[in-house]
Amino acid sequence: MGLLDRIQFAAAPVEPPEAIDVTERQELAILWPGGQRAVVPSKRLRDLCPCASCVEEGTGRKLLDPATIPDDVRPTSIQPVGNYAIQIFWSDGHSTGLYTWRALREASGLR
Ligand SMILES: [Zn+2]
Repeated sequence: MGLLDRIQFAAAPVEPPEAIDVTERQELAILWPGGQRAVVPSKRLRDLCPCASCVEEGTGRKLLDPATIPDDVRPTSIQPVGNYAIQIFWSDGHSTGLYTWRALREASGLR
């Protein structure tokens, strides 16, 4: 496999989830094409927020202190953004992060 093949592989688009639900335990249940179902704890997903106030732009340095995230944080609303991401409105008032399909797959423990 040549270098170009690898670059194209890395940039391959991620198919959108077939369904995203919030479980009774306030976790995100994501059903991926092919039938893989992942359950991601809300606190972990909140910790992964990629927005500019949680992650420094340019350097990628994390600014969010996980200790400031309430243990019982949960999504109050989930909105689609185009066909590439969702915006999660969290119970702690934070909502600026866009979670791309790729980020959700990584959070799901899938590639
Ligand atoms: Zn954020």
